[in-house]
Amino acid sequence: MTAKDSRTTVVVLGGGIGGQVAATELARGLGRTGRVILVERAAEFVFAPSLPWVMTGDRRPGAITRGYAKLARRGIEVRHCEVTGIDPENSRVETSEGPIAFDYLVVSLGAVPAPEGMPGMEEHAHHPYDLEHAERLRDALAGFGGGRVAVAIASLPYRCPAAPYETALLIDGYLRRRGLRDRSSVTMFTPEPLPMPVTGPYIGHRVAAELARHDIPFHPKVQLERVEEGRLVFGGGTVAEFDLAIVIPPHRPAAVVAASPLAGPNGWVPVDRATLRTRHANVYAIGDITAIPLENGMPLPKAGVFAHGEAVVVAANIARRVRGDLRERPFEGHGMCFLETGGGRAGLARGDFYASPVPKVSMYRPGRSWHLGKVAFEKYWLNRWI
Ligand SMILES: Cc1cc2nc3c(=O)[nH]c(=O)nc-3n(C[C@H](O)[C@H](O)[C@H](O)COP(=O)(O)OP(=O)(O)OC[C@H]3O[C@@H](n4cnc5c(N)ncnc54)[C@H](O)[C@@H]3O)c2cc1C
Repeated sequence: MTAKDSRTTVVVLGGGIGGQVAATELARGLGRTGRVILVERAAEFVFAPSLPWVMTGDRRPGAITRGYAKLARRGIEVRHCEVTGIDPENSRVETSEGPIAFDYLVVSLGAVPAPEGMPGMEEHAHHPYDLEHAERLRDALAGFGGGRVAVAIASLPYRCPAAPYETALLIDGYLRRRGLRDRSSVTMFTPEPLPMPVTGPYIGHRVAAELARHDIPFHPKVQLERVEEGRLVFGGGTVAEFDLAIVIPPHRPAAVVAASPLAGPNGWVPVDRATLRTRHANVYAIGDITAIPLENGMPLPKAGVFAHGEAVVVAANIARRVRGDLRERPFEGHGMCFLETGGGRAGLARGDFYASPVPKVSMYRPGRSWHLGKVAFEKYWLNRWI
């Protein structure tokens, strides 16, 4: 067991977007009164919002990948090992390198792509949802001479409500750039009633119109059942033939969390939406691993912007508690998301997702400036946080 010392020990599980921000803000807020331990299995972090640019060849993998040295320089103890158990009753976690005791725990272990959950997907379809697969898709696109491209969402929930639509629009732009669009079709399929339905019908229709403007037929409310060689098979027996298929994979909660006492009935972690506290007073969960129902009945999207905002709030509140200040700053559900539309243009959606009775989100028209905004955001993130 890692020895406890007189300082308050805060353990952060997961060194992705939420975990990095939480650990950094905790180290700053606690100063010498605290010890921050970050547990992450991977040696390197990949900035997922830039994966669609890896797919189109606009980013090298090295440009969006970072080690954890900067976090260590901030005084964070980074442990590269596997989290194998979470025991909130006894305030300890199990890892492949032994148990760690905590005073406070922040769980940010994320959502895992699970292509094995869609029959035939691993054999017959691509996706850009992790670096390895984004690179494989980049190579497949480079060898693609034109034809039918199908982009399908396998099931809900998935990470980033904009990313599948961005994928279709970026592929459209890529094929135009290579002079292949005349010989190709790009078609989008989803079980959702509209694109990004959590943002409401106004934005959903605007994104659908953007797809139409790019000649991308949009098929809502279709449930993919399996992928066969050259065919997507949907419920009811509808079939779509393809030459290249991109399927946004099903997602599942990190297995160690789903098996822990923190998990709700479907494996995701229920939390208080303002404080991100679980049912255990000294245990918080943030980011994609959480299930936060909104007032319109849909869950808060799994997006880095929310993981980041939640991490800032949780870190501030833990630091206050350690100082004996029991006031709590709430997470208020604000978020924004760029939507790349191809050809060096992007739109931006932003708003209040906790608004009642439905999220209040607005969208700025796609243009060059929002694309440059997304590039600047990527640079800021990779330089400031890791
Ligand atoms: C293609 C794509 C595009 C996206 N675009 C955007 C965007 O434009 N804007 C946006 O806001 N969001 C975007 N997202 C979503 C965003 O990346 C996630 O919502 C965000 O990373 C969630 O942060 P997190 O800390 O909850 O989880 P993650 O960042 O996934 O971090 C979880 C970490 O836990 C580690 N881990 C898991 N299990 C264990 C274990 N047992 N032991 C040790 N370590 C473990 C993992 O290795 C990982 O590093 C995109 C995602 C994808 C895939």
